[in-house]
Amino acid sequence: MNSEQKGFDEGLSEIKKDVEAKVKKSVVVPEYLTGQSKIYFRCYPGIGCFTKCCSGTRILLSPYDIYALKKRLGMTYNEFLATYTQQSFIDNTPLPITILKMKNDETKSCPFVTAEGCTVYADRPLTCRYYPVGMGIMKQFDKGTGTNFFIKIKEDHCLGHNEAKAWAIDEWRADQGSTVYDEINNDWMEVVLKAKTLGMVEFSQKSLSLFFMVSSNLDAFRKFVFESNFLNAYEIEPEVVKRIKEDEIELLKFSLSWLRFTMYGEGDFKVKEEARKTARERLIAEREEQARLERERSHREPD
Ligand code: SF4
Ligand code: SF4
Repeated sequence: MNSEQKGFDEGLSEIKKDVEAKVKKSVVVPEYLTGQSKIYFRCYPGIGCFTKCCSGTRILLSPYDIYALKKRLGMTYNEFLATYTQQSFIDNTPLPITILKMKNDETKSCPFVTAEGCTVYADRPLTCRYYPVGMGIMKQFDKGTGTNFFIKIKEDHCLGHNEAKAWAIDEWRADQGSTVYDEINNDWMEVVLKAKTLGMVEFSQKSLSLFFMVSSNLDAFRKFVFESNFLNAYEIEPEVVKRIKEDEIELLKFSLSWLRFTMYGEGDFKVKEEARKTARERLIAEREEQARLERERSHREPD
């Protein structure tokens, strides 16, 4: 088995586990698909299975999903998160994430579905837009990186696959309005896909908390930037500060590129020398304190 096939098989097996945990009965078609690959699919009000895909499912919310939904519903981030979501983890990683909370009754349906369809359709999450397509990552074992691929999800109840309408996957994504979401979420997706490539590696508690805050709550990130030492720690152009103060989408994009920088050192953020020095001194002091505590503990322990 060559390393490309091994990467695809491994990526596929992970996405199968992801999908099987999310849906009642599914078939992940074991085919490596690109943006140019064709699928045959159509979904419309009146199809026999209408809204069957909107219950008993796991809808992971990306940062732009949360922004679009809370804006549509006229809520703050805290209000939206408390009312409609719960915490989970991104499969095969230790990264905490927000998912839609399904109704706690026998229907287990999405809080936004009615017999007439999705009540937040224009702002539905990315997972709903992509369906029946999923995205996977093909690991490149020799390089420790990965590239994206697509898969087709075929659930027994979904009749859309019997339709004759053909789409290239990229056409499907554009038709569903996914490309805007993908563009805005791009840095976040890079962080997630990289974490999936690395698997269950250890992240510090601080990194996990920052990941969760940036992924789910832009109001909290705004406070973090404007009410902490953040702006003294980084060299940020005054016009960028003005933009992120006045424009929520700019703040969202900024938060995701900063997340990528802080988790993987990727991107062009510059830490001020003074802040670097303070961080170094704090690290040394923490290590010294740790060593002192360990010495004390070893003195107290009986031989
Ligand atoms: S958000 Fe809309 S499309 Fe997505 S599961 Fe809920 S009702 Fe269905
Ligand atoms: S065709 Fe598939 S995606 Fe569309 S409503 Fe039916 S089950 Fe859901």
